[in-house]
Amino acid sequence: MDAAAVPAARVAVINAAPANDKGEHVLYWMIAQRRTRWSFGLQHAIAEAAARGLPLIVLEALRVGYPWASARLHRFVMDGMADNQRRFADTPVAYLPWVEQRPGEGSGLLEALAERAALVVTDEYPTFFLPRMVRAAAARLAVRVDLVDGNGVLPLRAAPDPFPTAYAFRRFLQRSLRPHLAALPLAEPLALAAGLPPARVPDAVLARWPATPLAALDGSDPCWLAGLPIDHAVPPAPLRGGPVAGEAALATFLDERLDGYGAGRNQPDADASSGLSPYLHFGHVGAHEVVAAVLARESWEPGRLATTASGGRAGWWGVGPGAESFLDQIITWRELGFVFAFHRPDHMSYDALPGWAIDTLEAHAGDPRPWVYTHEQLEAAETHDPIWNAAQNQLREEGRIHNYLRMLWGKKVLEWSPHPREAVLTLIALNDRWALDGRDPNSYSGIFWCLGRFDRAWGPERAIYGKIRYMSSDNTARKLRLDGYLRRFGAGQLELGIRRK
Ligand SMILES: Cc1cc2nc3c(=O)[nH]c(=O)nc-3n(C[C@H](O)[C@H](O)[C@H](O)COP(=O)(O)OP(=O)(O)OC[C@H]3O[C@@H](n4cnc5c(N)ncnc54)[C@H](O)[C@@H]3O)c2cc1C
Repeated sequence: MDAAAVPAARVAVINAAPANDKGEHVLYWMIAQRRTRWSFGLQHAIAEAAARGLPLIVLEALRVGYPWASARLHRFVMDGMADNQRRFADTPVAYLPWVEQRPGEGSGLLEALAERAALVVTDEYPTFFLPRMVRAAAARLAVRVDLVDGNGVLPLRAAPDPFPTAYAFRRFLQRSLRPHLAALPLAEPLALAAGLPPARVPDAVLARWPATPLAALDGSDPCWLAGLPIDHAVPPAPLRGGPVAGEAALATFLDERLDGYGAGRNQPDADASSGLSPYLHFGHVGAHEVVAAVLARESWEPGRLATTASGGRAGWWGVGPGAESFLDQIITWRELGFVFAFHRPDHMSYDALPGWAIDTLEAHAGDPRPWVYTHEQLEAAETHDPIWNAAQNQLREEGRIHNYLRMLWGKKVLEWSPHPREAVLTLIALNDRWALDGRDPNSYSGIFWCLGRFDRAWGPERAIYGKIRYMSSDNTARKLRLDGYLRRFGAGQLELGIRRK
């Protein structure tokens, strides 16, 4: 097989328009895999350009009008654009980073670049507004649009149905993942671009949509971001975005925390988790890159895979316990949610919970609630529960919540809401607004897991929860070493809307 060819299961033509034989360039509309390395989307775009002897233009755009647009999300994405600009420099590819400054300014940009394109390549992403946006754009454009799935190790279309549990999905993976592990994207697809004719963004396009200056992208001109009509009450998080920071986070995790991952992941004071979810969410780092790096570090080779598909969490890969446990999270749990979102466009809705979960939640919907909080009280971390408040403060301050506490955070909102439907809306709004990694298939996996998705019925049956798995703050306090966490994020340390210095 041609090394540059992307597996057929990952490419879908999503409109009826033909490729344009008279096209002057190939256009890659980079919307989810926002990086230059380990990217099937970019690899496919380069391969198509090379096959036609055409130049390649890459458009990475960011509009102001999408839901939850904020200084936090913009800063993170723009950090990535600055990195990408540097990485595309000195290649024949023309990269246009474009951040909208006024609502509606971006209308027509994609069409203008597609007008003389031989074809358009873009990224598949199964949630948020992206599927709708891509389908609408493909229907408008008069040229073929190839949708490329670089989301996970398993192509989305290789899973026939959504899976009800991680166990069922893991068994499926253990039977079917092997060939996909041998079909990873190229680490450096830009190396293939060396022979392409040099590309230029047409002057007429640049005249109307000039590239956003590097000083705006990299934050050296902070006034630029401050002037955008987005939610500035959600300030930039301390974490720097972009492929460069993401790759550094991956390297540090492998060197310092992978070995202790299984045991250390749940302790807030010795957090052994990778911290990669924001980078994975924005496509600054790819899942393939992370998996390949873990396997390389373990000197893994395919002969180590177990030959039986037991569905067990450990032992299938034939690597150390830390790596085994991490691979289960980044493949089984992460891709369980991607596959679910792909097959279930209603994945963000209460009605998409399993029947047993809806039945038990409804049976207990009328139970008295000792505490009920409004959205505003929750957002401001004003509850009676110091652990919950600390988790919410961490979310507001850092754009993340420690992994174990995130489960407790979600469960308590179920307990403190007038109805589980309302709990879902509150959780989605809090998480999507404040979390760097929100608006992701995993966001809805995690939130709906708190209400029974991917889980089973548990006993004893309790008030409000019914048969939904219960979690308590008292138990959490007994299980985890929380002193440092509570000191850091505890009540009183954060004023509403003001970041702690
Ligand atoms: C209420 C709630 C909300 C959540 N919201 C999000 C969200 O918005 N975005 C998000 O990426 N994750 C979400 N999760 C899942 C999980 O908490 C995070 O993926 C994890 O904490 C991210 O930290 P990390 O990258 O250090 O994870 P690590 O432990 O280092 O794991 C590596 C990667 O594996 C995947 N992963 C790990 N745990 C899970 C899980 N339980 N479900 C699915 N994938 C997982 C993620 O891609 C993660 O980056 C949520 C969980 C809950 C209970």
